[in-house]
Amino acid sequence: MGRHYKEVSAALAMFSAIFARQREMEERAARLSDDDRRVLFRNWAARANEAQAAGRYVPSFPQYLRGLACGAIKKNGKPCGMTTLGANGRCKFHGGASTGPRTPEGRAKALENLKLGRLKRGKS
Ligand SMILES: [Zn+2]
Repeated sequence: MGRHYKEVSAALAMFSAIFARQREMEERAARLSDDDRRVLFRNWAARANEAQAAGRYVPSFPQYLRGLACGAIKKNGKPCGMTTLGANGRCKFHGGASTGPRTPEGRAKALENLKLGRLKRGKS
């Protein structure tokens, strides 16, 4: 009892507040549609990538996004059920085509590879 007891009970109160908030978020997210959860997934992925690039603390994967399916409509008319999603919230088959190199370095490299290919094929 005494000082120690006060510190422990303050810590317990803090943790139970955090857990209550987390539980509330999970209950709220469980009622959302998959499309809305995909928006949350994209937001989380963008924040995680940003944090990793900046060397900051990477937020852990939220439990309420676990098991989220790709959901793209396949050729047979059924929704895709893959749960291994990229930062765009879709699986490796349904993320869309590449939009090409973004950075000036990447563009220069792509151009260089194009030129090399032409040389190899005997064209100028
Ligand atoms: Zn898919």
